[in-house]
Amino acid sequence: MSTESQTELHDSQTSPANVIEIRSLRKVYDDVIVAVDDVDLGVREGEFFTILGPSGSGKSTLLQMITGIETPTAGEIRLDGALVNDVKPYNRNTSLVFQEYALFPHMSARENVEYGLMLRGIPDRERHERADAMFELMNLVGKEDRPIQDLSGGERQRVATARSLVVEPDVLLLDEVLGALDEKLAREMQVELKRIQEEVDKTFIFVTHSQEEAFSMSDRIAIMNDGNVEQVGEPFEIYQNPASEFVADFLQMPN
Ligand code: ADP
Ligand code: MG
Repeated sequence: MSTESQTELHDSQTSPANVIEIRSLRKVYDDVIVAVDDVDLGVREGEFFTILGPSGSGKSTLLQMITGIETPTAGEIRLDGALVNDVKPYNRNTSLVFQEYALFPHMSARENVEYGLMLRGIPDRERHERADAMFELMNLVGKEDRPIQDLSGGERQRVATARSLVVEPDVLLLDEVLGALDEKLAREMQVELKRIQEEVDKTFIFVTHSQEEAFSMSDRIAIMNDGNVEQVGEPFEIYQNPASEFVADFLQMPN
């Protein structure tokens, strides 16, 4: 056996399974707007995977297809090996963290976090226990009964994250979640999100247009341009070896 094929065999046996497999994925809005052109992507179990690209490059559309809010025009999405193109969002093992403004402002933090569990018919006691675990994880103990409108931006972002995590998805999807926070708070939340990911041990797919966020947080980064993935790699690989002119230019741009 050649060295090369031994390496391949070794890799396929030891590398963690891909929790998400995307093949030739495409999304066209209104018959003419090509939001996602032709994307192939594999995301490994447990990784902090970032989709980085300029505004309009198709990042949100890609996330929305993974979570099932948008239907692909063509291509395949597999979660844990199963084709999910026609599976409803609530039957997928993914959960999307919405921007904090998607919380119910008059309801308390607890009511917001427990809402999804209530819809799923989880009994009171288990619901409270699961929410309590989330308040602990998110450093929100003491804020449970506050109405959302009385919480700070950072606290709301934590509640939004808790609300998405409490349903115990395998994959947590985060779309520009630090974008609304001021710089200091955004940096604090970067560290917090990394800690939370380690504690819950789940796959995170983090979407951002910020190089700084992507390069400081990610195990691997996919760089998107105009509906396509230009490069996938570890931060230092991309930094040292940009695969295209677009990537090289994008890295030169101010954050
Ligand atoms: P990003 O998140 O990277 O900014 P989007 O996925 O939001 O990119 O958008 C990609 C392209 O698709 C843009 O040209 C955008 O205007 C278009 N688009 C996004 N959502 C819709 C929609 N619901 N209907 C029509 N066009 C859309
Ligand atoms: Mg977007």
